[in-house]
Amino acid sequence: METLGYYNGEIGLLDELRIPMNDRACWFGDGVYEATVSANYRIFALEEHVNRFFNSAALLSMTPAITKPQLAELLYTLVYKVDSPTQFVYWQMTRGTAPRTHAFPEQTSPNLWVMLKPLTLPDIYQKIRLITVEDTRFFHCNIKTLNLLPNVLASEKAKQAGCTEAVFHRGNRVTEGSHSNVHILKDGTLCTAPLDNLILPGISRRHIITQCGKLGIPIDERPFTLEELFGADEVMISSASTFCMSASHIDGYEAGGKAPELLRRLQDALLDEFHQVTGARCA
Ligand code: PLP
Repeated sequence: METLGYYNGEIGLLDELRIPMNDRACWFGDGVYEATVSANYRIFALEEHVNRFFNSAALLSMTPAITKPQLAELLYTLVYKVDSPTQFVYWQMTRGTAPRTHAFPEQTSPNLWVMLKPLTLPDIYQKIRLITVEDTRFFHCNIKTLNLLPNVLASEKAKQAGCTEAVFHRGNRVTEGSHSNVHILKDGTLCTAPLDNLILPGISRRHIITQCGKLGIPIDERPFTLEELFGADEVMISSASTFCMSASHIDGYEAGGKAPELLRRLQDALLDEFHQVTGARCA
């Protein structure tokens, strides 16, 4: 198959599979999701993504009707059905199907969706452009929920400005990107926002921290400001599909570019890890 959609056991092409209107995703975005990549039919960091998925679900009082190993097995079965060995691997669970009322419906069970589509791995050494956007999201950003409208609006704003990503800030505090975490390198130290309810606990963020540990790069997990972002030696975003890419411009001003060797060591380490797990090379 070129693409694959899965809904509670039904499988079809993404353009063809039909979903009931009363799925609470349609009315409320009432669900949680995960996204990672597969290369050579190996799903990268699958266990970590499955764990975060169950954690997000628990935070919304949702109980998957499937165990973690069953979910992992299902994803592998589906990934092997797709022609391309390199895929964007996405799945979500919604609270269920019920007539539209805000409070949780009493008699329903969760719906499981999977979406697979071919992916081209990025050249992570390419420089990207960022814009900054006031973070108007709610206070549950640690949960990977389907409610992404502010993220969508910020991402569109970045696209209109010819940029790759929008960096959210609450007042002066940098939180994260519209679909990534944001980090800076300054004086040899990696600084990244702490894990609280204002950011998603990114799996790639964790891999960056692990690699920094191995490379002896000190890590400072603390809130940082817009001034620190603009004054950083390097500014990076991270996500499952971008790994760790660095910025050349923010809001049209030159940014980063002052610690290229340190940045390169970190990016090389991340790609080495990906290569070891999947056998695939990105760049
Ligand atoms: N923050 C937000 C808002 C995201 O949507 C994402 C990824 O989709 C991330 C951070 C990065 O998370 P991960 O590294 O697990 O892909």
